[in-house]
Amino acid sequence: DPCCAAPLPVLGRDVTVPLVTGGEVTYAALDYAASAPALQRVWDDVAAYAPYYGSVHRGAGYLSQLSTDLFENSRVTVAEFLDCRPGDQVVFTRSTTDSLNLLAATLPADCQVFVFETEHHASLLPWRDARVTYLNAPRTPEQAVATLERALADRDPYGPALVCVTGASNVTGELWPVKELAAAAHAHGARIVLDAAQLAPHHPVSVQELDVDWIAFSGHKLYAPFGSGVLAGRADWLQDSEPYLAGGGASRKVARRADGGVDVEWHTTAARHEAGSPNVIGVYSIASACKALTEAGFDSLVERERHLIAEVRQGLAEVPEVRVLSLFGDDAPRVGVISFVVEGWNSSHFAAALSAEYGIGVRDGLFCAHPLVRTLLGSDPQDPGECGAPEAAPGERSLNAIRVSFGAGTPDEHVERFVGAVK
Ligand code: PMP
Repeated sequence: DPCCAAPLPVLGRDVTVPLVTGGEVTYAALDYAASAPALQRVWDDVAAYAPYYGSVHRGAGYLSQLSTDLFENSRVTVAEFLDCRPGDQVVFTRSTTDSLNLLAATLPADCQVFVFETEHHASLLPWRDARVTYLNAPRTPEQAVATLERALADRDPYGPALVCVTGASNVTGELWPVKELAAAAHAHGARIVLDAAQLAPHHPVSVQELDVDWIAFSGHKLYAPFGSGVLAGRADWLQDSEPYLAGGGASRKVARRADGGVDVEWHTTAARHEAGSPNVIGVYSIASACKALTEAGFDSLVERERHLIAEVRQGLAEVPEVRVLSLFGDDAPRVGVISFVVEGWNSSHFAAALSAEYGIGVRDGLFCAHPLVRTLLGSDPQDPGECGAPEAAPGERSLNAIRVSFGAGTPDEHVERFVGAVK
């Protein structure tokens, strides 16, 4: 059935690409989980602002003042979009990866970190200088909560602790029980950071309702591909730590000392971690995307996406050689991110054929979540292996997977073409 709501206008809808079979076809962007196309509205807002571009926090001229206002108002828009608590800080970064590395740089001494092995590498790796406990892959959301509870019960109850968890998997699209994990973390005196890179583009996210301490996401997955990201949440750890980057903008006062050194007084606002001239276009584009998604209404976005997910999953289920990868099972709630393998096919060849023969852009590989994908494929999660896999003969296991992902700008025709191509 055609869905009730129309897709949101995005750039690239009319781009045509050549086919190896001859002729050309409009490009079907089905790799939103890597980077989503820009919303037309975001592009228009940025274009309207571009002539007024000026330095932020660094100039007395009218356009500098205007750009500074735009930058600071974007902070307010993002805080509203995330339903932050009063007193939370919104720090602008380059990406989710940058946001989580920033938070890792603010960990109090002796902080214990708990992270599931199933995380994207951006959530898995920044904590390696801390005392990290890697938790085994759960096979149900309830098991995830129980696993975390057990690990936290064993921890040093007096020291600081942080849990890092994804909201929606970039491999299976499955939603994680964030609210329950946050409750478990807090019951044991730990903090929690939510990796919302794949959640925020698809679902409304409320910091207060989920009761997470921090949240991180990227503009380029939220239809705002201009190089900015967000870390938002509690101010205390952010203010108590050294600045992420040392430089202008982060420092309030700098003076030479009598002994020849330099004394610095750092800002205690978000500016503390935003040294250097900020990416005002990137930041403004995120605020524009937040407004556009809110105005479109997540109810209709979620409903439309549910329809596309059902169409893809049903189509894939009709191909006996296809195996969809899932941690939590068929009934788990999910966003429009679906990974699968095709028996007898090398996943890279399969993805290349979708591009060359049908003009469909998907992704193949291990999706920067190597331990998770290996677990799902049934190969050894500890095997460092190669991403480029040899052809899997019938009955053999693939060593990598194919991922199709979509969102607010995806027309029905793209998923229909994809399902037809796989068949
Ligand atoms: N977390 C998740 C769940 C992701 O999907 C991604 C991007 N694939 C990241 C973090 C990292 O995002 P970025 O590359 O924008 O830093």
